[in-house]
Amino acid sequence: MKTALVLGAGGFIGSHMVRRLINEGFWVRGVDLKYPEFSQTKANEFVQGDLRNILLVEDILKTPENTTFDHIYQFAADMGGAGFVFTGENDAHIMHNSVSINLNILDQQVKLNKKLSLNKTKIFYSGSACMYPEHNQLDPDNPNCREDSAYPANPDSEYGWEKLFSERLYFAYNRNYKIPVRVARYHNIFGPEGTWEGGREKAPAAICRKVASLSEDGGTIEVWGDGLQTRSFLFVDECIEATRRLVESDFMGPVNIGSEEMVSINELVDITSKVANKLVKKNHIDGPLGVRGRNSNNDLIRQKLNWDYKLTLEEGILKTYQWINEQIKSKNLARV
Ligand code: NAD
Repeated sequence: MKTALVLGAGGFIGSHMVRRLINEGFWVRGVDLKYPEFSQTKANEFVQGDLRNILLVEDILKTPENTTFDHIYQFAADMGGAGFVFTGENDAHIMHNSVSINLNILDQQVKLNKKLSLNKTKIFYSGSACMYPEHNQLDPDNPNCREDSAYPANPDSEYGWEKLFSERLYFAYNRNYKIPVRVARYHNIFGPEGTWEGGREKAPAAICRKVASLSEDGGTIEVWGDGLQTRSFLFVDECIEATRRLVESDFMGPVNIGSEEMVSINELVDITSKVANKLVKKNHIDGPLGVRGRNSNNDLIRQKLNWDYKLTLEEGILKTYQWINEQIKSKNLARV
């Protein structure tokens, strides 16, 4: 039986990946500070713990058969929407936490491989489009996020710098210790079971929540900035499929995993209003924004992995809106 270790298995993408791997017949161990918030973990074994702790990392890298895993999926990091990542208030913590986790995993895997005279574990690292240079993302209609546009580096946040450093770290361990690594740069992943309130939610979930909270007739929601900033959003099932393809392939990356259906935030609000069948007005207020324009460029992934996204943004938003609407309803019921 194939085995997989999913780090960050209590989070959004990690818990979806656990489900997918279990359905594919893997034996899965999940690790996270917390259990998944919205459903029971499907992992065969779930370890609640802090991956900054080197002793914990040493322990979890061994399978119950005292060998190494076939795959490791590394999703553990401090994530947020713009409200968490772009204010600057959380920079030191974001960088310290993620770098510590990635260093621990790579270093302990090298030690374990040496001890067991093995080197079979493929390690997937979830990088981010936030590592692309700000100067290529000033024009909302024409951002450049090709993989080869990464240098000279100039990410607009410390989160992006850390993601860039860590993808380099994985490739360094590949060069020096032959660790088989796979690196993706995710572009705004969204869908059911993603954070939708509390300050770390991203734009699609935040907008779905705001629209779902309006009365049936609609109303006004707040939008950060002028809403003309552009982004693309990829539905989580498609992200999982692309990631699995990357890990099974011989291609190491780094490669974009995203959608090329770029919209402005105003258009995202309009799509959500349509899906919700509500009349929604926008009140533009100050808020943390990130780069002016961003879109995935999928030329490389199409060429290397023959993968492309299938769902339209509207189809993905419909699934997400319905899920968030249910979350709000059950929360309101629980209060009664
Ligand atoms: P998430 O916040 O839902 O999941 C991350 C998980 O990591 C959380 O459950 C958290 O508890 C866990 N974690 C953090 N620090 C830890 C520690 N010290 N020890 C153990 N667990 C720890 O985020 P997500 O959306 O599922 O993102 C997964 C990965 O993908 C992250 O690395 C993120 O940077 C990357 N990524 C996500 C997106 C996106 O749009 N969701 C975009 C680009 C990159």
